Amino acid sequence: MSFTVAIVGRPNVGKSTLFNRLAGKRLALVDDQPGLTRDRREAEAEIGTCTIRLVDTAGLEPGDTGLTARMRQQTEAAIAQADLVLFLIDARAGVTAADEIFGELVRASGKPVILAANKVEGRAAEAGFYEAFALGLGEPLPISAEHGLGIGDVTEAIAQAYKAKGDEAAVEAEAEAEGQHPLRIAVVGRPNVGKSTLVNGLLGEERMITGPEAGITRDAIASEAAWAGRPLRLFDTAGLRRKVRVEGKAEELSVGDTLRAISFAEVVVLLLDAEKPFEKQDLQIADLIAQEGRALVIAVNKWDLVRERSKRLAELREMCQRLLPQVKGVALVTVSALSGKGLDKLMDAVLAADEVWNRRLPTHLLNQWLGSAVDAHPPPAVSGRRIKLRYMTQANARPPTFVVFCSQPKALPESYVRYLVNGLREGFDLPGVPIRLNLRKGENPYAKGRRT
Ligand code: GDP
Repeated sequence: MSFTVAIVGRPNVGKSTLFNRLAGKRLALVDDQPGLTRDRREAEAEIGTCTIRLVDTAGLEPGDTGLTARMRQQTEAAIAQADLVLFLIDARAGVTAADEIFGELVRASGKPVILAANKVEGRAAEAGFYEAFALGLGEPLPISAEHGLGIGDVTEAIAQAYKAKGDEAAVEAEAEAEGQHPLRIAVVGRPNVGKSTLVNGLLGEERMITGPEAGITRDAIASEAAWAGRPLRLFDTAGLRRKVRVEGKAEELSVGDTLRAISFAEVVVLLLDAEKPFEKQDLQIADLIAQEGRALVIAVNKWDLVRERSKRLAELREMCQRLLPQVKGVALVTVSALSGKGLDKLMDAVLAADEVWNRRLPTHLLNQWLGSAVDAHPPPAVSGRRIKLRYMTQANARPPTFVVFCSQPKALPESYVRYLVNGLREGFDLPGVPIRLNLRKGENPYAKGRRT
């Protein structure tokens, strides 16, 4: 999280001295001459466990023209960019007209503010300190930037404001993660497996068809729904197919419609008929989904018609592993679209698949993993030179896409790429999503420059 604190106040109240104290360095040119620190300076400062950006501003004089008008603009810009304003007055001078104008500027910004009354080291400051209450910017903190008095209170107030922003950001992030764009789900499968029935079941009471005329999509029928508070947008080919029915034609799988529905989706539910599962067309559709790089969940429908369920389930799982190696570990869920049974488990699997599809893995863990994968099973040698795998990183998510830098990418056997993909899937728990692995010729970029 970035956090910017702007130190503002009229010239010569001690902003630069405080800046140096907080930044821990003697950077600013400090002098008793008003307006000596003209330009805005910035530093990174450690406040407790927080790293903040500290901005020192030039200050403001009322009715400024020319250079000083520019200083005022800079100050206003600094306030606008700040997460917190540290407003400084000179307690010895009391609250001046300039301070009042300035206080108004800070108040108008609506930014959180810490009011500090500086130069309180002597008795002369007492009256001025109490005057500061009248600015209406909260209780002033008595400090002496030069003598290091009260600085702890300032840093504590900064840390509190930092934490408040963090809390706010966390709440926002959570709302975004939950509240969120509608999860786009396509339900695909052969004719008559129960797609329309399933979509209707998922839509439930909240059904709201949004066709092409609503401008959502031109080619597919989308329906808005929600599941456990999460908005969904469902795509299926049913609406398109209904037209075919009216015309009385035999129903066939429309690869075009299926592909279109898949292309709109993040997660695709491939619906199978429990009595005729994993037919050739089912496998073709699964292949399309993997090629398109979508997250996949397999739902076996009409489970209500099945006897000896546990035996059947074991058979189905075996077939799934054997027939769909490209999406190893894919979730297989049994449902009855007609009765609504199993829909909650299906949706759990859909959300889990979406999470995996979006996952990002840290580069250092990937390279640790690559090292041990290569040690356990080194790549072959080609014309006497062993192929070297030097470095890898995740280039993309949705689906997880990796780049491996390799000394001879063209020579690396397909079987070795499969070994790496399977290893990634297991090592990083990435079940059921297509994993892309691209080979690039090249060096470890981090090693460059280090080698001499
Ligand atoms: P679609 O072509 O994939 O959209 O399939 P439909 O939703 O039109 O369903 C085809 C047929 O299967 C209809 O007669 C449905 O009533 C029936 N059906 C759908 N789901 C189930 C289910 O869970 N159990 C049973 N027994 N029949 C179902």
